Amino acid sequence: MLGLMQSGQLTVDTFLDHAATWQPNREVISRDAAGHVTRSNYADIRDMAKQVSAALARAGIKQGDRVATMGWNSHRHLAAWYGATNMGAVLHTLNPRLFLEQIAYIANHAGDRILLADPNCAEIVAQLLPQAPGIERVIFLCDAASMPQTDYAATAFDDWIAGEPAEYAWGGFDENLACGLCYTSGTTGNPKGVLYSHRSNYLHTMLTLQADALALSARDTVLLVVPMYHANAWGVVYSAPAVGAKLVLPGPRMDGESICDLIEAEGVTYSAAVPTVWQGLLQYLRSSGRKMDTLQRVTIGGSAVPEMLVRAFRDEYGVEVTQGWGMTETSPLATLSTPSAEVAALDDDAQVAHKIKQGRLMCGLKFKLTDDAGAPLPHDGETFGHLKIKGPTIVSSYFGGDGGEILDEDGYFDTGDVATIDQRGYMQITDRAKDVVKSGGEWISSIEIENIATGHPSVALAAVIGVAHPKWDERPILLCQLKAGEVASGDDLLAFLEGRIAKWWMPDDVVFVEEIPLGATGKIDKKLLRQRMADYTLP
Ligand code: ADP
Repeated sequence: MLGLMQSGQLTVDTFLDHAATWQPNREVISRDAAGHVTRSNYADIRDMAKQVSAALARAGIKQGDRVATMGWNSHRHLAAWYGATNMGAVLHTLNPRLFLEQIAYIANHAGDRILLADPNCAEIVAQLLPQAPGIERVIFLCDAASMPQTDYAATAFDDWIAGEPAEYAWGGFDENLACGLCYTSGTTGNPKGVLYSHRSNYLHTMLTLQADALALSARDTVLLVVPMYHANAWGVVYSAPAVGAKLVLPGPRMDGESICDLIEAEGVTYSAAVPTVWQGLLQYLRSSGRKMDTLQRVTIGGSAVPEMLVRAFRDEYGVEVTQGWGMTETSPLATLSTPSAEVAALDDDAQVAHKIKQGRLMCGLKFKLTDDAGAPLPHDGETFGHLKIKGPTIVSSYFGGDGGEILDEDGYFDTGDVATIDQRGYMQITDRAKDVVKSGGEWISSIEIENIATGHPSVALAAVIGVAHPKWDERPILLCQLKAGEVASGDDLLAFLEGRIAKWWMPDDVVFVEEIPLGATGKIDKKLLRQRMADYTLP
């Protein structure tokens, strides 16, 4: 017997529509590259997004066609996002920080037909167009006065939508229709496309809104630092309007001072970003002496959160840090390090120790921890294994069938991460499988060493890589970028690690570098680091 309840389709137009209907005046704030701030609200964004839908339909875009954006977080980008998805097109977010060859590969692979780009990406677009002949039209996300000079045809967003009615009928299609397309950054091989459906994005939004996840509410002011082109923007493009939170879109400036200015000016209560952004903000706050009176909570993810960040934000600024783990293939959020009742009852040090684990699974997702042969490993918090995941917000295959069959016989996707799971259900990433340092057949967690080294007062960024060793196969070395004006020796760093990690995990060398390179999404680029250290030999 079937239930007798209504069965509306779970499509993402619901979120903006709900915000615009019930919280029409809730503000959406957008700061551009020049620092100019535009104040609008959810009713304005819905009107603008409906005009985008109408303009796309007029341009011949049909259900399933790919519409690309290449831009920073802005109100026009938000309207373009909903305008495309809500009329049944697939919103493909291109990352302007990738190498041109990768952008061209991705745009061609996706079959992008229209490109809506930030005006300060005009140069990248100029180089891209000859290599991506499928792009029929370029729209710059600006008004006529801000149009960049180009020798290719392009239209200003405001002109493009100006004559369109704000009445386009949204939704009305199957919830399994493709909604968004996002490529992994391709640290191994070519980038691969993850094709979200309306249903998967809808479910991800509901999951991430839980109190033990992002816990957003109508009273929050959300600063979306996570770029809209990275990993489905952690779903915040959906979850903030879903609850009617005020939304602050910071544009391209991610330095500590710019972020602090926005937090102060807009009364931001919640934000989300990768650790390097928060490390930058912390350094700025400490050196400037400024405070952030309104900020209550931040979610940090994308790479491991150093203990120092958790403690500094909590103890010096009263900000609660929660770590999130996930990947483009998992929509992206899958675990959060919020305390369970059992952990909340532990002493302070034990609670912090759980905060720096990647956390507990959200309901509806399943984990499997296996050895190289696929046999299950115990959840004892010590045994490392391959982390596999399953659920309705997890990829089932890549766009275009790249990589072939990617699920195991039980339908689990291999994350490529090596992890432990403890008896309390907290997962902890040891490494990405490709970053693991294997010494004498045993895995050393580069993440754990980096986490501790980052707590040294002179260190700005730390990275551990494995280098070839005649006896042990590989040994770890520690690369450090010091804070401006700071001095420290290799022995200082080793003394700092001593007693905090197992003896055989101690790096064989400490190398100071001018700069630890960050990749296109603000994470430490270990591939490039390894290339730079290719000629290095152990002392
Ligand atoms: P890419 O980094 O390749 O651009 P993703 O953003 O999808 O692509 O990255 C997903 C990967 O990032 C995960 O598989 C994991 O290795 C790493 N990651 C994400 N969150 C965390 C975290 N909180 N701690 C450690 N690693 C993380």
